[in-house]
Amino acid sequence: MACPREDRERDELVLVGPLGVRAAESSGRPAAEAECALRTCFQRDIDRITHCKAFRRLKHKTQVFLQPEGDHYRTRLTHTLEVARIARTISRALRLNEDLTEAIALGHDLGHTPFGHAGERALNEIFPGGFRHYEQGLRVVDRLEKDGRGLNLCNETRTGILNHTTGIPRGSLEADVVRLSDRIAYINHDLDDAERAGILAPGDEPEIVRERLGERNSRRINSIVTDVIETSRGQDVILMSPGITEAVQVFTDFMYSEVYRNPVAKGEESKVGDILLNIWRHYVRSPRLLPEDYQRIAEEDGLERAVTDYVSGMTDKYVIDVYMDLFIPRSWQVR
Ligand code: MG
Repeated sequence: MACPREDRERDELVLVGPLGVRAAESSGRPAAEAECALRTCFQRDIDRITHCKAFRRLKHKTQVFLQPEGDHYRTRLTHTLEVARIARTISRALRLNEDLTEAIALGHDLGHTPFGHAGERALNEIFPGGFRHYEQGLRVVDRLEKDGRGLNLCNETRTGILNHTTGIPRGSLEADVVRLSDRIAYINHDLDDAERAGILAPGDEPEIVRERLGERNSRRINSIVTDVIETSRGQDVILMSPGITEAVQVFTDFMYSEVYRNPVAKGEESKVGDILLNIWRHYVRSPRLLPEDYQRIAEEDGLERAVTDYVSGMTDKYVIDVYMDLFIPRSWQVR
């Protein structure tokens, strides 16, 4: 019988250049498995991530704006999809492995807490040893998904998820593409959302951004992506030209000062930390309130670890529901 996976692996000898990772050359999975007849190992990783629960929860997790009322603000899920699209475009143009790139991109934010970086800061304060969303991302795919069995992803996908924001070597150019695509996506869509929220007006961004990147969202993304492809072609590193690097740096600094640290946009954030800390302490004091699978993790990996896994996996809305349930007295209902 024909084997579409083998056909694709042969095609990759042409489509994926010498700097990319070919599926047939993957270093494998933590637990050995028989190959699929239809899909390469990286295609399988894409499917496993897309079908996992943590991926669906991204829909209800904050990107930057807490619980925004409007339908058009980005969530962690739409951010993830935008990163995947940008990363695939760059990867294809550079003849890297698009499937591996997509798997890393779809998995790159699975470890994010509710309420974005405010949530991450709170858990980092209280969990012994600290909390970082990229380490949690690897824990989600290795340990928490599929009732504690994990997704058993390829090592190249796992390394890419772990290292998408840190400076240490990431192991593949595909992972480097995702890391840069993450930044390209968020500075641009957060500017768009900040204008939607009335925090910035069109044209507020620095002149160098308008001049070198463009005045519209689509134009800016296209300018940066084109530059990355032209500058990185044939190199064993993913980078931008000096002129675009400078504009992107000014753009990033501008977003930090005007949006990410803006007291209007972030006005509710101080409340978020207290809510998460209270919930965390409550479960540590009363472990029997944890769902059964997290009680099992508590037995095997320690209580504080299990509570951190549970709380970090919550969506924004679920946190509020749990908080109401645990700490807000219910009014009497007379029937
Ligand atoms: Mg991200």
